[in-house]
Amino acid sequence: MSDTLSHNVYNFGSGPGMMPPIVLQQAQAEMLNWQGTGMSVWEMPFTGSRFQEIADEAKQDLRELLNIPENFQILLMQGGASAQFSLVPMNLLRDVSSADYIDTGHWSAKAIKEGSRYCRVNVAASAEASGYRAIPALDQWQLDKKAGYCHITSNETANGLQYPHFPSCFNNESVPLVADMTSDFLSKPIDFERFGLVYAGAQKNIGPAGLTIVVIREDLIREPMMTTPSAFSYKTINDNNGRFNTPLTYGVYLAGLVFKHLKASGGLEQVQALGQQKSERLYQAIDQHGFYSCEVEPAFRSTMNHCFTLGDPSQTDDFIAAAHQRGLINLTGHPATGGIRASVYNAMPLAGVEALIDFMQEYPHMHKQSHEQAL
Ligand SMILES: *Cc1c(COP(=O)(O)O)cnc(C)c1O
Repeated sequence: MSDTLSHNVYNFGSGPGMMPPIVLQQAQAEMLNWQGTGMSVWEMPFTGSRFQEIADEAKQDLRELLNIPENFQILLMQGGASAQFSLVPMNLLRDVSSADYIDTGHWSAKAIKEGSRYCRVNVAASAEASGYRAIPALDQWQLDKKAGYCHITSNETANGLQYPHFPSCFNNESVPLVADMTSDFLSKPIDFERFGLVYAGAQKNIGPAGLTIVVIREDLIREPMMTTPSAFSYKTINDNNGRFNTPLTYGVYLAGLVFKHLKASGGLEQVQALGQQKSERLYQAIDQHGFYSCEVEPAFRSTMNHCFTLGDPSQTDDFIAAAHQRGLINLTGHPATGGIRASVYNAMPLAGVEALIDFMQEYPHMHKQSHEQAL
């Protein structure tokens, strides 16, 4: 990760999240004239060879970063992860009537609600019984052998619950594992042997909102339900090499720059190691004082979205405002959960996390002083 450019603020927002400053700077430098073409990427014909070069390179770099096997295709789509809540069942369930879903919180609930419009949803396991503090063990999942797929949410952005590793029983089963990885995609390597389909909205851990990445095993690319818009048919998109209609050209370009930046930073093992370091330090600071608390069991705590509360919840707004004064911005918890949420995506430098930890250490004393002054 590059910390070479100074930040005006550290943005802990959950998404759109921070982007690497070095990438934004490169985009700025070539904005008006991309590589001597005399035009910006925005203005290029999407059917032309130059844009094709940009898209092909982005896909190839993503393939190398994640070690995506040859029998998987990468689709660069639009509509966000929420559109995939519909598009997954529409594209995978033409001849099957049900799907399994694992409920781990806010985003899986949304996927379940939307999926229920297209098929019979079997909630095979739910974290509800634990108060969403832990993900049920695989041997408790009531899976249906006839399901079209089993859907998981790898990282719950709103409530900070994450799979520490992925279920492995799916390898030789006929039910493919489908994962919404929107908020932890590219934070660590993925073992694609375990998955049939992985999707991610780009605005959390990659960059431009609207771009949606789908990585799908080839044998799952098939005729969708009749009512599926052609522009959202995995088969149509793949058959036309991403050019059935105009793709999100500038978003593809920016994502491609981020992929190159991650490769240059040492690849995903490096990214993961730094991410773990940032996350562990932050949870240590949360656990240390008795002033803050995180309810999620340590084994399932998100390395991306650190959700915590103050001992006195009435101080929450004050904490957020005081942090904002220090340039530590967008720490408000998800409306559904409240509290504080510090999202620490790849582009957040270690210095940003350290600045937040310093602030968290000072805040209880600051408050005490102002309280005493008031007396
Ligand atoms: C943000 C988010 C979504 C929704 O993404 P959109 O692109 O806004 O539709 C879905 N799933 C997860 C896990 C998310 O974090």
